[in-house]
Amino acid sequence: METPTAPNRPDAGLREQLDQLAAAQRYRRRRVQDGPQQPKAVLDGRPMLSFCSNDYLGLANHPEVIRALQRGAETWGVGSGSAHLVNGHSRAHHALEEALAAFTGRPRALLFSTGYMANLGVISALAGRGDKVLQDRLNHASLLDGAQLSRANLRRYPHADAAGLERQLNDSGARLIATDGVFSMDGDLAPLPELIPIARRAGAWLLVDDAHGLGVLGRGGRGTFDHFGLTPDDDCILMGTLGKALGTFGAFVAGSEELIETLIQRARSYVFTTASPPAVAEATRASLAIAEREDWRRERLQTLIARFRHGAEQLGLPIMDSPTPIQPLMAGSEAQALAWSRALEEAGILVGAIRPPTVPEGTARLRITFSATHRDEDLDRLLEALDRLSLSTQSTKDDHLD
Ligand code: PMP
Repeated sequence: METPTAPNRPDAGLREQLDQLAAAQRYRRRRVQDGPQQPKAVLDGRPMLSFCSNDYLGLANHPEVIRALQRGAETWGVGSGSAHLVNGHSRAHHALEEALAAFTGRPRALLFSTGYMANLGVISALAGRGDKVLQDRLNHASLLDGAQLSRANLRRYPHADAAGLERQLNDSGARLIATDGVFSMDGDLAPLPELIPIARRAGAWLLVDDAHGLGVLGRGGRGTFDHFGLTPDDDCILMGTLGKALGTFGAFVAGSEELIETLIQRARSYVFTTASPPAVAEATRASLAIAEREDWRRERLQTLIARFRHGAEQLGLPIMDSPTPIQPLMAGSEAQALAWSRALEEAGILVGAIRPPTVPEGTARLRITFSATHRDEDLDRLLEALDRLSLSTQSTKDDHLD
């Protein structure tokens, strides 16, 4: 019997859409890593020097952190078994929450399984239909998605522009203002000293996603607030991730007693998901202690950043204005960013090409990230390879190598 061909199969058109992505140089391919990822990676059996991990402090492979994970698994098993509110909230999670509250100087901290879920949970618990949520134009996708999920009216203000934010607040105010602390694809900082009083005057929550500032900036790695010498009040909410500088996995929100209790009751991405493995919480407690006490890791990053920026300026590379271990090189077109990334890969160096929709149209770039475990020789090798590509501010304007 002949199989009937349905005219409107749900998968019809997918191939065409995928082909369109490829034609626009936006098709993304995963690369299979055969070992730890930074600074040395193994890709398809080939050793590579990597500059694309967010393991800024080099803690993901630290022996003490690995041992804490192993011991944690022996004590607690692997899976947590259920959601925090059912039976999944272990002493290991609790101890980490207390350590994170103490570290950030906030009354309470609450663990989420991922940063994406933390942002979704906070915004949708605090804002709803009829509320206004204002966000920096370059905020991480999870903050924007959180606002969509909340059904609030989402408005975006110009990047890192306090005056632009104030203009958008006008008379109607806002329920919540959200910003990255360190912008994930640009490496620059939110102007927190200006944003805090604006939010306060407007009677709005200020949510700061410090995924890339925590561990890297401020005293003991306390993040972007501390970098500016600010002590946040109860109307400021800090979101931090654990899978970047802290080298493990997960995220947390820190704030007032009432805020955390509200999230426990109302944040759906907290309530309706399995608690992360307790052993990961044990590993994070170990990495947090190292991150706090080993200032040399942050100092090393600063040395690498200064050395890279000096070298890149001498070579005329299109660096951006970033004081953090995220050092993007602006390419402009997707084709240009991909061509640079591929050429570096041929030279044994991994650097990701970041394209729309992750960044705005016309601003595709290489995203170079440093880790405290990169050596001077690694950085020199990167600069030499970039020089061989003969990047220059000029070439980004008119070259299409692909
Ligand atoms: N916020 C920012 C600024 C991020 O860069 C990321 C991760 N890319 C997240 C949130 C999400 O964190 P997670 O990876 O833990 O979901």
